[in-house]
Amino acid sequence: MMAYSQIRTAMARRTLSAAQPAPAEPEAEAPLSDESADEARVRNALIEAVLSNQLPPGTRLVESPLCQAFGVNRSLLRRVFVQLAGERVIELHRNRGAVVAAPTQEEMRQAFEARRLIEGAVLQALSERAQGPYLASVRQLVCEEHDAYRKGDRSRWVRLSGEYHLRLTALLGNQDLDHMLKSLVTRTTLMKALYGAPERSTCSFDEHNAILDALEAGNVPLACQLMSAHLNDAERQLKRDTGASQVDLMKLFGSPA
Ligand SMILES: [Zn+2]
Repeated sequence: MMAYSQIRTAMARRTLSAAQPAPAEPEAEAPLSDESADEARVRNALIEAVLSNQLPPGTRLVESPLCQAFGVNRSLLRRVFVQLAGERVIELHRNRGAVVAAPTQEEMRQAFEARRLIEGAVLQALSERAQGPYLASVRQLVCEEHDAYRKGDRSRWVRLSGEYHLRLTALLGNQDLDHMLKSLVTRTTLMKALYGAPERSTCSFDEHNAILDALEAGNVPLACQLMSAHLNDAERQLKRDTGASQVDLMKLFGSPA
């Protein structure tokens, strides 16, 4: 098991940076204070642990060992919990405190249905509006996905495979759509991390390329059909039977690199 380190923090930040809703704070670009840096460090370590399934769904996030492991106080930890609850990565319960989110079957169905509807419409709109070699940057992204896969860089691969869907949508230049899809991609990435088979819990870059091929050939019905099948496949791989287990939070986050 990897110990917590600066590199892991940076990876975790990148893992979700593309897939998370825009930060609420307008001063997000300003240099981080120590306190903000600590919040970001704890937040990213927790997200990374959830996405790598080291913290399974339903795991209780007990405050004392976490404060000790991260060297932070309770009020800072609670602020991080509130952020993560807002992103639906964890849930806050009156009695049990913070627990790793365990999306229901119905929540997963709804999230994937929303993605199929939105992303099909995005492909249709792109075919009507976009001109020239507009897919070049998305093609490049698929090459990077393949590269991350070949190098065994799983964090980067997961991030890039979500980024593909966001990049296609971003070509339309509609910020409302971008925001909606970012939120959905974050949640479905979490669902795949929680309930997907480890070896298949990210997108296939071959399928990503096939969708681009169909779009470039002007065959929009085929592109939509491939996208729908791609998202259906991702949904089918989810098995909501992973039980919560006892996790030693001190051991997971406490040991230095
Ligand atoms: Zn995909």
